[in-house]
Amino acid sequence: MTTKTNQTNQFVNFINGEWIAAASKEKIVNYNPANNEEVVGEVAKSSVEDLDKAVHFAKSASKGWKDLSGAERGQYLYKAADIMERRLEEIAECMTREMGKTYPEAKGETARGVAILRYYAGEGMRAVGDVIPSTDSEALMFTTRVPLGVVGVITPWNFPVAIPIWKSAPALIYGNTIVLKPATEGAVTCAKVIECFAEAGLPKGVINMVTGPGSVIGQAIAEHPDVHGITFTGSNLVGKQIGHQALARGAKYQLEMGGKNPVIVTEDADLDLAVESTISGGLKSTGQKCTATSRVILLNGIYDKFKERLLEKVKDISVGDGMQEGSWMGPCVSERQLETVLHYIEKGKEESGKLLAGGKRLKDDDREKGYFVEPTVFEDVNSEMTIAQEEIFGPVLALMKVDSLEEALNLANDVEYGLSASIFTTNIQQMLSFIKDMDAGLVRINAESAGVELQAPFGGMKQSSSHSREQGQAAKEFFTSIKTVFVK
Ligand code: NAP
Ligand code: MG
Repeated sequence: MTTKTNQTNQFVNFINGEWIAAASKEKIVNYNPANNEEVVGEVAKSSVEDLDKAVHFAKSASKGWKDLSGAERGQYLYKAADIMERRLEEIAECMTREMGKTYPEAKGETARGVAILRYYAGEGMRAVGDVIPSTDSEALMFTTRVPLGVVGVITPWNFPVAIPIWKSAPALIYGNTIVLKPATEGAVTCAKVIECFAEAGLPKGVINMVTGPGSVIGQAIAEHPDVHGITFTGSNLVGKQIGHQALARGAKYQLEMGGKNPVIVTEDADLDLAVESTISGGLKSTGQKCTATSRVILLNGIYDKFKERLLEKVKDISVGDGMQEGSWMGPCVSERQLETVLHYIEKGKEESGKLLAGGKRLKDDDREKGYFVEPTVFEDVNSEMTIAQEEIFGPVLALMKVDSLEEALNLANDVEYGLSASIFTTNIQQMLSFIKDMDAGLVRINAESAGVELQAPFGGMKQSSSHSREQGQAAKEFFTSIKTVFVK
C-alpha cells in the first residue's frame, strides 16, 4: 500500500492498492483556468483495459470487505478523514488551481469532505433493518441490508472533493467496493482524495480510481457486467445515456443532473438578505453549481428596489485568480465552459433580454490567460427565452417580473428541471404555498438556493435526477439492497 504523498501532482491510476500507469502509458495534463500556462498536474489517460482491471480487483475485494463489521469499515473512514483534515490546505489549493473556485470556497468544500467521511464512518454502527411482525407467532421476520457489490462512481468537476466523497463514503460503509472515474477537469484534486484513502490503509481493491475520457472510461463503467450499481453526477445528456445502459443490463443506477433554479422575492421580503443570497447563490463558484440560482423572480412592488441594490453589489464583485486574496469570483473551469457562457449571453441579447450588467470576457492585466467572465445580469427575461430554460453553468442572473405569488410559482415551475428553489418572504402563508407548490427536491425559505447539508437527503425532481436521493440516511437506499429474512 502506498502511503507517500505525491508532491508533484503527477498521478496515475489507483488499482488494487497500487499506483499504476495506464496500459497505454498516455497522460492528461491539466492547466490552471486562471492562468492557462500553469500546469497543475497530470493523470493517466486510461483505456478500457485499465478499467477492466480495476473492476476485476474491486470484485475480488468484495467478499473480504463486506464481511467486515460496519464499525471496522468505519475505522478506515475515520482515518481517511483525519488524513484529509491534515492535508486540507494543500488539497484546497490544488482544487482552486485546477478548477478555479476561490480558495476559501475550496477550503470549505474540503472541510465538508472531511465531515462527510466522519458522518458515514459513524453510519457503520447504525441500524440497517426493521423487525416486522410475522403472522406466524413462532417466527422472527426482519430486514437487513446488503451491499450491491462493485459500484461505479462517475463524478463532475465542480465539486472534485465533496461529490466523490459523498458517493464513495456511503458506498464503502455499506460494504461495496468501488471504481471511481472522476471528471477529467478535477482529476488531480480527486487523486489527492484517493491518496487519503490509500494512506488510511483500506484493503487492496476496495477503492480504485481510473482516470481518462468519460466517453471511454465512464461508458465502460456503465456497460461493465460486473459493475452492479452506478452513481453519477453530471450533465443530463450523459446521465440519461448512463441510465439507458444500466437499465439495459439490469444494474442499479442513480443520476443527479442539472438545475435551473429559481429564487422568488416577495414584497415583504428582507431585501438585503434576498439580494445577498441571490448574489451568493447565483455567482459563487462562478455559477458552476447544480444548485446555483439562475432565475430571479421578483414581485412587482419590490422589483425596482431589488434591481437597484443588486446592481450596486454586482458592480463591486472582484473577479480574479481564486488563490489571490480579495478575489470573490474565479474563472470558468475551461475555455469551453467560458464559450458556453458567452454563447448564452449572446442568446439572451438576441432574444431581446436587456443586459443590465456584465456580459463580457475579462481579458485585461493578469486576466488575459484565464477564462474570466463578468458577473452578468439580464432583465426583461421571459419563460420562452433560452436563458430562462437551459442550464448555463455560469455567473448569469435573469430577472423576471410578476404580479402575484401564483404567477411567480407558475414561472418558477415552468422549466424541465426541479433541483433547488428559494423564496424570500416574511409571510407564513406565502412560505406554505411555496413549500406545497414548488416542484423541487430542495426548497429553501429565506436562504440561498445553493445550500446543502450533508446529513439531509439531496436530489432533484423532474429532469434533475433519477428520483433517487443522495447523502444523509437517504444514501442507504441506493447503496444497499434489502434482504427480508424469515426465521423459524
Ligand atoms: P458531464 O460532462 O456530464 O461529466 C460528468 C462525468 O461523466 C465526468 O466524469 C465525465 O468525464 C463523465 N462522462 C462524460 N461523458 C461520458 C459518457 N459518454 N459516459 C459516461 N461518463 C461520461 O458533466 P460535467 O461537465 O462534469 O459537470 C457539469 C454538470 O454536472 C452540470 O450539468 C451540473 O448541473 C451537473 N451537476 C449536478 C449536480 C447534482 O448533484 N445534481 C452536482 C454537480 C454538477 P470527463 O470529465 O472525462 O468528460
Ligand atoms: Mg463535461
